[in-house]
Order: sequence, then C-alpha cells, then structure tokens
Amino acid sequence: MNTKELDSLYVARSYGRLPLEIVGGKGALCYDENNKEYIDLGSGIAVNTFGFSDAEWIDALKEQIDKFAHTSNYYYTEPCAKLAELLCERTGMKKVFFSNSGGEANECAIKAARRYSFTKYGKGRHTIITLKNSFHGRTITTLSATGQDSFHTEFDPFTEGFVYAEANNFEDVKRLSEENSCCAVMMEVVQGEGGVFVLSKEFVENVAKLCEEKDMLLMIDEVQTGNGRTGKLYGYMNYDVMPDIISTAKGLGGGLPIGATLFSEKTAEVYTPGSHGSTFGGNPVCAAGAVNIVSRIDDELLAGVAERHNVIKEALSGLENVESVDGLGLMLGIKCKKDAKQVMLECLDRGVLVLTAKDKVRLLPPLNIDIELLKKALNILSEVISK
Ligand SMILES: *Cc1c(COP(=O)(O)O)cnc(C)c1O
Repeated sequence: MNTKELDSLYVARSYGRLPLEIVGGKGALCYDENNKEYIDLGSGIAVNTFGFSDAEWIDALKEQIDKFAHTSNYYYTEPCAKLAELLCERTGMKKVFFSNSGGEANECAIKAARRYSFTKYGKGRHTIITLKNSFHGRTITTLSATGQDSFHTEFDPFTEGFVYAEANNFEDVKRLSEENSCCAVMMEVVQGEGGVFVLSKEFVENVAKLCEEKDMLLMIDEVQTGNGRTGKLYGYMNYDVMPDIISTAKGLGGGLPIGATLFSEKTAEVYTPGSHGSTFGGNPVCAAGAVNIVSRIDDELLAGVAERHNVIKEALSGLENVESVDGLGLMLGIKCKKDAKQVMLECLDRGVLVLTAKDKVRLLPPLNIDIELLKKALNILSEVISK
C-alpha cells in the first residue's frame, strides 16, 4: 500500500486530508511523491518560521542532538535556560514555563490564572473571559476557553469557568467582568482560526486597563501571532499593552514541537515546585532550535515581513473578486467572492499551498520567503481567485 492508502486505513480520521503527500522541502518550496513542486504559503500553519529544512536551524538541532536529545526536568539543561533568558530579554517578561504545544501553553496559562487568584483571593474567583470566535486549543479546557459554540458539543462535560465576550466590544468585556468573579481575560490579538480577525487598538488597550484596575490577568494567546508572524516579535507589541501572561508555540520551534508560557513580574512566582510540569517540556533539541529561531527574528527580518505584507496586499487588494485583505504582517485573510475551500483546492492543483480560516483564504508564508517566489505564487493565487 502507498502512504495515502496506509494513512486512510490506520490513522484516526480526525483530519480531512488534502490529496497531497509531502516528501521533502527546502525554504518555501516542497515536493510530492512525483517530484511536483509546490510553493508553500502556509508554513505548516505558521510553524515553519523559516520554511522547510532551514540550514541554520538544522545545524543548531544537530549540535544538540549529538550531545543528547532528552533528559528529565529534574536536571538543568543549557538550551532550556538560554531560551528562557532570550524570551525574557526580548519581551520584558520574567519567567518561562516550557511545554510542547499551543494547547498546553494555554493550559499552563489558565492554571496559572486560577492559582494566582486562589492564592491571593481564595476559592471562587476563577472565571476567565475569552472572546467569541476565538481559538485556544483542543484539550477539554482549551476547547472550553474557545469562544465558538461549534466546539462545545459532543465532549461533555467541559471545564467550567469561561464566559465569552464579543470581540472589539469593550462594554461586553466590562459587563462580564461585573457579572462574574473573574481572574483573567485571555485573547488572541489577531484571531487566526476565527478568520484572521484583527482586534482594534482601542479594544485591546481598554481591556488591558480594565484588567489592571480589577487585578484580572491579561493573558495573550500568541500561539499563532507570535514569533514574528505579525511583523513584531509578539502580536501584542502592535498595541500599547503589557500582558501578565503570554502563551506561544507554533512558530517558536521553527518546525519542532515546543510551547512556552511567559510570566510577568506579577505572575512570575505563581508556580512553585511541583505545581505544574511536563515530561517533554523544554526538550533540549527543540529548545536549541527555538534559540536559533528567536534570535534571528530581529529588526531586519521584521522589516522583511512588512515588505512581504505590502507585496501581498498590492497583489490582491485591487482584484475584482477580492472583498477584503485583513491581517497583520504575514498573517493574512482574504475574503473573496469565490469559495475559500475551492480556491485552496485549485491552488493546490496549480502548485501553491494556501490555507483557509472560516470563509477566508489564509496566508501564513515563511517569514523569509523569497520575494520573487512569493510573487510567482501570488500570480497563481490571483488567477485562481479571478476565474
Ligand atoms: C493553533 C493554536 C492553538 C493550539 O495549538 P496546538 O499546538 O495545536 O495545541 C491555540 N491557540 C491558537 C491561537 C492557535 O492558533
């Protein structure tokens, strides 16, 4: 049997796979089993920060894997310590907990908010406000945190203690904070899975002020928006706010699984020995790769993200079938008259990988994608959208 047949027979059917097997890749290019070439504008959902098989990142991984790949969190390891230092220096946060995915990074944030409030105010002040249309993960608790009814069926009972405010409606957040005993607000500054919806400056900054007044923690889910994706190192840096907790994953590892939850001065001591943990969290190989990724997300790289953003906007904004192009940096959602799924399938056929989010075509290209290659892919995408 070939890969597709084996997969169909033996892999759980939780994914609606597209008819493509990837067998190799380099930068923004990848190849199927017939050596057909594709330009990747999805980066494995914002994970492959510098594309497939980035040479510098691979060197960093090799150097570590030649020493050792894993030990337990009973012991100190250099990549983990170095990555924590780098993340704190670049954000002003004070401490980091490492995990392996976005869902886990958010679980860690949610547990921290509850423990912070429990320690300071006692039992009961545990409700977390999240936003409608958000996405925070697939564990039972992060599904609860996700503000979309379609995620709240079939897996009952869900974790209690989440209420959902309308995005960009500050009065709604305020109302919920008065009606409930709340310990935190958790949100993505650009709702990725929710259709690349950018929160307004006014809303995010008002929520931050309310959090400050009420001692609710401001928790920013940077799983998708983080690590250079929005044109800043972290998405919240596009706003005049300072989070109490940041969770991130996806692009942090550049292609290997690592999640991180960052704590400010106020929340730095929430976790004490034994109160949280992860066997694989802070894996030395993943962490060594992440050190390489984060240290390369500098001003020059971010200027390149802005440049590529403009190239995409210019190519698509004027098209007759395009209704809107939204998003920040290289996290973009295109609403077009043609069905998004249909656009994705036709692009795939023509050798361009794009994603969808709700009713939009979503682009999350590698942050350093070659501009000529990007233009080539945009030409194909434009033709597909237009016909
Ligand atoms: C992808 C995503 C998650 C879940 O991350 P996993 O690594 O799949 O657990 C959580 N929050 C946001 C905003 C995401 O985009």
